[in-house]
Parts: sequence; C-alpha cells; structure tokens
Amino acid sequence: MLVLNCGSSSVRYRLFDGDEVRAKGLIQRIGEAGGDAGDHLTALRDLMDRLDLSDLAAVGHRVVHGGERFTESTVVTDEVVAAVEELIPLAPLHNPGSLTGIRVARKLLPDVPQVAVFDTAFHATIPAEGVLWAVDRDLARRFGLRRYGFHGTSHSYVSRETARLLGKPLAEANVITLHLGNGASASAVRGGRCEATSMGMTPLSGLVMGTRSGDIDPSLVFHLHRAGGLPLDEIEESLTRHGGLAGLAGANDMREVLERRAAGDADATLAFDVYIRRLKEYIGSYLAVLGRVDAITFTAGVGENAPDVRLAALSGLEPLGITVDPVRNRENALVISPDGAPVTVCVVPTEEELEIANESRRALGL
Ligand code: AMP
Repeated sequence: MLVLNCGSSSVRYRLFDGDEVRAKGLIQRIGEAGGDAGDHLTALRDLMDRLDLSDLAAVGHRVVHGGERFTESTVVTDEVVAAVEELIPLAPLHNPGSLTGIRVARKLLPDVPQVAVFDTAFHATIPAEGVLWAVDRDLARRFGLRRYGFHGTSHSYVSRETARLLGKPLAEANVITLHLGNGASASAVRGGRCEATSMGMTPLSGLVMGTRSGDIDPSLVFHLHRAGGLPLDEIEESLTRHGGLAGLAGANDMREVLERRAAGDADATLAFDVYIRRLKEYIGSYLAVLGRVDAITFTAGVGENAPDVRLAALSGLEPLGITVDPVRNRENALVISPDGAPVTVCVVPTEEELEIANESRRALGL
C-alpha cells in the first residue's frame, strides 16, 4: 500500500508492506525556487521511479474534506474526482492538493486502484444536534453550513487503540480523544462512534492551535472588517496563520512556548493558560456529552510529548475520577493514570498513514 498525503506544495508518502513501513518521506516546496520538484507530476514520477512498486496493491490518498457526500473511505472513480473538486469551496486551502495527488497518481499508475480516505468521514456519525448551528436553515442547506470535523483518521485510530489498551471491546469503550499537534481537535467517541468534535465546517474552530485561533465570536470578523477596514482575506489569514499560540505568544511551536514560560515570559505563560483553559472546557463538555468516560487519550506532537500540557489540562479533575501519575506522565507512558483509577488517561502515538493504509484495504475488500 502506498499512502500519499498531498498538500499544495508538499507530498508526504509512506509505503507499507502489511503494517511494516518499507519507505517514507516528504517532498517539500514543490513549485518553489530551490524546492524538491517543479510540480506534483514530476515529484510523484520521481518518487515512483525510486520506490519498488512491483507488487503495489493500492494507493491510499488523504483527502481533508469529504463534505456531506463522503461518509467513508471511497474507491476513486472519475465521478469521485469530480465530487472532491466540487468540495474545493469548502476547503480551498486543503482539497486542491489532494486532488492533484489523486489525478497524478491515477495517470502514473492507471492499473492500480486508488482510495480516497477523508479526514471528515469518522465524524459522519455525529448526530444532527452536534453538527448543526442555530443559523437560518435555508442558508445552511444552500451553503453546506454545518460541522464536519477533521483529523478523523487520527481520532479513529487512537480511540480503537485506547479500547485495546483498556482491554475492552471497541463497542463498550467511551473515549475522549485529544489530537494536539500543530492543528488540534478533540472528539467524544462512544463505542467507536464519534458523537462530538471540536473542529467545524473548516479546521479553524475549536481548540487553540499552533497558528489557528480556534473558537472565536464570529462578530470579531465583522468588527475587523467594518471598524478596522481589513479585507476578508486578511482576516482569514490572520485567524488561520497568525492566531493560536503564534497570535498570543509570537511562537507556534509548543516547545518554545514551554521554554519561555519556564523562563518567566508573560506572553508565553498567558498563551499556555489560554490553550489549557480551552482544552479543559472541551474536556468538560465531552464528559457531559458521554456521561460515562472510560479513557481520555492524548495524541499528536504536543499530546504525545508535552507532560506539562497533559498535567495542566487534567488538573483539578480528581473529583471526576481523573488523575495523572506524575512519574508516568513525565515518561510519556502509554497509561499515565494510576492503576485502578476510574478514568484511564492514555498517551497513544497516532498513526494516520497506517490508518489510511488499513482504510484503503477495507474499502477495497483486501
Ligand atoms: P504534529 O502536528 O502532530 O506534528 O505536532 C507538531 C507540534 O508538536 C509542534 O509544533 C510542537 O509544538 C509540538 N511538539 C513536538 N514535540 C514536542 C515536545 N517535546 N514538547 C512540546 N511540544 C512538542
């Protein structure tokens, strides 16, 4: 299985033999001066020349936005390509890259089946009350205004791994999954089915992220436009690229924020506090959505590597059965709650590419 994650100027790839990684890498700055390749076609052709693809079963593509149409991984046809193209207005920053990757891979490997695996699909089980906003329903229908959610392959993978860690059948495990990377999102998963997630129509809402604001009062946009005279594109750029930790502390990398906070930097301290407060609000909300929670699982760059973030996010929740063992937490152990705690707190490294490979196999019935 070859897994491709194509962005507008990059290609992340991983070649699997079963669960084993045979090759992996990143082609960067495609189309830019001094970049790794002039365009996606050249980048993928060179890549395919380098890899041994003699017994390739399929190519799995990460596609960020599947809209309402794609609720599961789907074998690529001309019609699927056209439908992903129609979704570009909903994901102008993300879907064009995936689409280019699919088109080029189909051209280069015409006899190999291709599967589209959507970041949104895992969230298709969220009930209507969890995806609708209280806005004019005609506008909502016409323009697809609703929550879709993202990072689905990660939430799916880590919730399943958490059930395994708990020694419970997936259908019986209620898990809050916290994907804290450069992008970040939280999900409430009941018995393997997602019931709530923090990202919305786009990956901008919810938690505080590296450069994205997360939740804001939408009136802020009108105010910046009317009172500040900022064009909409600039406001979008500000909220997506100069928000989050970058907006509050001037640094998008949690490592830098933590170092500066430890040195007493006031902006970094405040950025950390806002980040943690938002995380706590979502954890509390998802405890209420699920009612009974078996586990809280941290994953992705920050979630897997930042004990201070995990400890702060769960501090004060002991009355709810949530405790962190400081030694296990420091060691980034798989389970960081004490033995016998009512809620198991886990650290599960995410494996989005493996999940895409497995999803592709499932879609093809392999
Ligand atoms: P990801 O998007 O999952 O690759 O996560 C990337 C982010 O993880 C980086 O921007 C860092 O902020 C964060 N990160 C990686 N390693 C550490 C670490 N040791 N401590 C805190 N944050 C980390």
